[in-house]
Amino acid sequence: MTAVIINGRDVADKKKHEIAQEVSSLKGQGVTPGLVVILVGNNHASRTYVTNKEKTCKELGMNSLLIEMPEETSEAELLAKIEELNNDAAIHGILVQLPLPKHIDETKVIETISPLKDVDGFHPINIGRMMTGQNTFLPCTPFGIMVLLEEYGISVAGKHAVVVGRSNIVGKPVGQLLLNQHATVTYCHSRTKDLAEQTRQADILVAAVGIPNFITAEHVKEGAVVIDVGINRNEAGKLCGDVAFAEVSEKAGYITPVPKGVGPMTITMLMYNTLQSAKESINRK
Ligand code: NDP
Repeated sequence: MTAVIINGRDVADKKKHEIAQEVSSLKGQGVTPGLVVILVGNNHASRTYVTNKEKTCKELGMNSLLIEMPEETSEAELLAKIEELNNDAAIHGILVQLPLPKHIDETKVIETISPLKDVDGFHPINIGRMMTGQNTFLPCTPFGIMVLLEEYGISVAGKHAVVVGRSNIVGKPVGQLLLNQHATVTYCHSRTKDLAEQTRQADILVAAVGIPNFITAEHVKEGAVVIDVGINRNEAGKLCGDVAFAEVSEKAGYITPVPKGVGPMTITMLMYNTLQSAKESINRK
């Protein structure tokens, strides 16, 4: 079997087009969705992510504001800046780019962002709402994965989903979203015994590990849906996922490539969340 390739770039483009149309109609009502990204320090990868977010905001007609703070910024200064933005009606989404310098407590920072502007979906209130199936900002990468499944007509209810990875930003929430849509969910992690035995049970296999070519054909059931979240560099410095694409795509039913799989969806769902926040701000007026 040769897998259908899930083209995240195409789905992201379609969603971005829809978002841009809604942004334009909101502007007609006098509201321009505004996202602020706070970058503390000089992490090279973070700078690339932040630049992409700014670029996408502009493409979709949204306002984007980048606040750069030096590495030596104190925690108190950062929290004060967030409070100021929480109270700024022109800002609908606040994103603090992680990781932060070591002297700043990430949990405190996330909990200071108003849940109403937490477009990353990392605030414990929003995570709690997600867990209880309420309408809320969903974390962008897991949300993007659910949209990919929907766009390719892949039903989730009753399926056995196996998620490899249990980080707060990807593994845990994607398992929860799959559960919310009635999958039977197994989480695997570094202490899981006989990983391949678990992953071979999967109708839907999500790999969010961060190790190149970690999932091979022996981990995959014939015809499974394989979602590769990993963004890694292989020994040759080339971008690759967690899944050994060539061999797994011979066995899977569907597979996301890297690049052009899950990656483009993450930023798109961030834009979607910012748009929703702007719409809700009108309803609160
Ligand atoms: P983390 O490092 O936070 O989590 C990795 C997870 O993999 C952990 O739960 C860890 O288990 C598990 N793991 C590590 N080694 C093994 C092993 N040998 N067997 C089974 N499980 C293992 O990573 P993230 O969740 O933040 O990211 C995962 C990948 O996804 C990375 O490549 C990252 O770059 C990428 N990513 C991509 C995004 C996108 O937009 N496409 C967005 C975010 C991340 P344990 O908990 O026991 O340590």
